[in-house]
Amino acid sequence: MKKALGLMKKLFLQDPEKLCGLYPHQLSGGMRQRLIAAMSLSFEPELLIADEPTKGLDPEARAGAVELFTKIKNEYGKTMLLITHDLDLAHEVCDRVAVMYAGEVVELDEASKILHSPGHPYTKGLIRAHPRNGLVPLSGQSPSRIKLPEGCFYHERCRYAAVECSRRHPEMQNHKGGGIRCHLRSLQ
Ligand code: SF4
Repeated sequence: MKKALGLMKKLFLQDPEKLCGLYPHQLSGGMRQRLIAAMSLSFEPELLIADEPTKGLDPEARAGAVELFTKIKNEYGKTMLLITHDLDLAHEVCDRVAVMYAGEVVELDEASKILHSPGHPYTKGLIRAHPRNGLVPLSGQSPSRIKLPEGCFYHERCRYAAVECSRRHPEMQNHKGGGIRCHLRSLQ
């Protein structure tokens, strides 16, 4: 109990003794998230995985989640894997970002490099689709995972696609210190 209360306090949960007497439905989404984080940290894992930790949170709770994960990263020194569609969370908390498309990594690099000067056409599309950048939608739909297209999985939606893109699946290759999966020769 002492350890649990200590962790709850460290993860910004006010009045943890009182919280221990409440049911989950009596807690806010942000509080439940902090409790899950406290439970996870209680057995001192080497790797912490958080799947969509800001999904469905209001702006205040989202800001709390950023604060929480930044604290875990800085004070507990744990390796964290955040799975997210929240580009700002990735930028604020993560050191490295791997962009996934149709089940595979298409770009891997330091978070600031990827989010400020993306190289892969899909990553560029994601950045353009951010509300801050005009909410430009990506054209087309993701392919079915049970019937992936020949060649590059992104070629049916890619504005840079060439003939080679529909024939040969690109491998990850080194690109400016990171990794990228694209045939495009003149990547920015
Ligand atoms: S390999 Fe071709 S289709 Fe795929 S992202 Fe690169 S340019 Fe676009």
